[in-house]
Amino acid sequence: ASISRHLSTTPTIMAPISKEADYLVIGGGSGGLASARAASAKFGTKTMVVESKRLGGTCVNVGCVPKKVTYNAAFIAETIHQAKDYGFRVQETAPFDWTTFKHKRDAYVKRLNGIYERNLVNDKVEYVRGWARLVSKNEVEVTTDDGEKSIVRAKKILLAVGGNPTAGPANIPGHEHGIDSDGFFDIETLPKKVALVGAGYIAVEFAGMFNALGVETHLFIRHEHFLRSFDPMIQEAVTNEYERLGVILHKNSSQSRVEKDAQTGKLSIHYKDAGGEGVLGDVDHLIWAIGRTAATQNIGLEEAGVKLGSKGHVIVDEYQNTSVDNIYSLGDATGPVDLTPVAIAAGRRLAARLFGPPEFKALKLDYGNIPSVVFSHPEVGSIGLSEPQAVEKYGRDNLKIYKTAFTAMYYAMMEPDQKGPTSYKLICAGPDEKVVGLHILGLGSGEMLQGFGVAIKMGATKADFDSCVAIHPTSAEELVTLK
Ligand code: FAD
Ligand code: NDP
Repeated sequence: ASISRHLSTTPTIMAPISKEADYLVIGGGSGGLASARAASAKFGTKTMVVESKRLGGTCVNVGCVPKKVTYNAAFIAETIHQAKDYGFRVQETAPFDWTTFKHKRDAYVKRLNGIYERNLVNDKVEYVRGWARLVSKNEVEVTTDDGEKSIVRAKKILLAVGGNPTAGPANIPGHEHGIDSDGFFDIETLPKKVALVGAGYIAVEFAGMFNALGVETHLFIRHEHFLRSFDPMIQEAVTNEYERLGVILHKNSSQSRVEKDAQTGKLSIHYKDAGGEGVLGDVDHLIWAIGRTAATQNIGLEEAGVKLGSKGHVIVDEYQNTSVDNIYSLGDATGPVDLTPVAIAAGRRLAARLFGPPEFKALKLDYGNIPSVVFSHPEVGSIGLSEPQAVEKYGRDNLKIYKTAFTAMYYAMMEPDQKGPTSYKLICAGPDEKVVGLHILGLGSGEMLQGFGVAIKMGATKADFDSCVAIHPTSAEELVTLK
């Protein structure tokens, strides 16, 4: 009877949790919430969400949302810096109060937690704050914050458990002195010097933000370029731009030891890079940003027969079915595309397929042509195949590649050393020049990509792009006038 349901943003309400659900969703992040709300609100399914931390998951609490707000602060810092070239007499290094900013950002996230909770109430989803573990294919053990355990029987179960930052390499002594992307959002004061290890979205986004906010930023990458899963044009242009902007890149690097000064708390990183061996001292924070690991361990999956891939992701088919009947999975728990809108789209489609009318029975997410943006400096947008992927799929002779690189008009008033790059690439395949890849970097790329994504999803050809009259003066117009 003391098994309880906790509502996190209001004083704790103790209420017995249901013993049965038609749809039990483990994980109240992007995918789990979207699927649970659709199942309950749209299709009247008796739905429960079990979430062990704060509602909203990675994206809301330690991902997209606080990241984008920080990116906005970095963008403002850059704009202030550039304003003098437009005739503004601004202080070039405007003081930035990180602590005040951080607390406002925390408050915003907390407001969102509350909104998410109210949405569940409105949609009649039962929200249980607790840790869930499968005990059989239809039973989940829920441990609430007060340590009470309860068994919930469920007709269908969704594993929407997401992932966690991959820990720093255990073979590097002192790796534990570093933090990860979750820890980034706990930093209370503006650091003087930071080091990041990694070459993906997170390392590149964080390094760009720190650098724009005036922090001495060291980025350790294992190769010559970062963002290596992107088109080579993007890898090269953004890596070069980071160096131009003052990020200290340690290319072809590895770390051998991390030490922490007991008195000052500052870190020393022993490393090797293209320039030889070195020690980077006086580091306020070392951030490991070397990927994410699915949160699939110790939750009874193997015992229930749910098959995992070699990297710990839940193996699913194109309908999000796992290897066990009536157990489904999606989002970061499954890979292969760790993005919030992907988890949401898969979650909604799954709910409609499982609980909706017959016409939804074949509904599934098309994982092709998913647009994505890196909030780097400048922003990067990408959809479809990179050039090497397109060559592999269609053969070089069946491709036509259109490229341009130019200086956006925003920089017209600026000195040459202030001008950022803009580069676009369109990859077209076959005689009808169907657009199979679009890669852009430069100011505004994040907002530009969505519309082009719609066109590409509809199967647009180069001729379709060209038939759309340009909008002048914009950077985007270059994409409909490529020669
Ligand atoms: P999550 O959102 O991680 O939710 C899973 C939830 O399950 C968590 O809340 C967890 O506490 C809970 N859980 C796990 N195990 C249990 C259990 N056993 N019992 C109960 N609860 C459990 N994506 C974008 O599209 N755009 C971006 O700009 C972007 N920026 C990002 C920046 C950072 C720093 C990071 C880390 C990620 C970013 N992402 C971004 C990725 C995005 O956050 C994820 O793809 C998305 O959150 C995945 O949603 P999900 O529902 O699969 O998992
Ligand atoms: P990623 O998988 O994107 O990148 C991690 C990279 O770090 C690897 O590709 C690898 O690059 C490098 N790396 C791996 N191990 C090591 C190591 N031991 N030492 C040094 N470098 C290493 O992971 P992230 O953590 O950056 O992000 C996770 C996911 O979250 C992303 O893939 C993305 O889906 C999502 N995300 C999305 C964002 C957005 O939409 N804007 C923003 C942030 C995250 P290499 O092989 O080149 O060394």
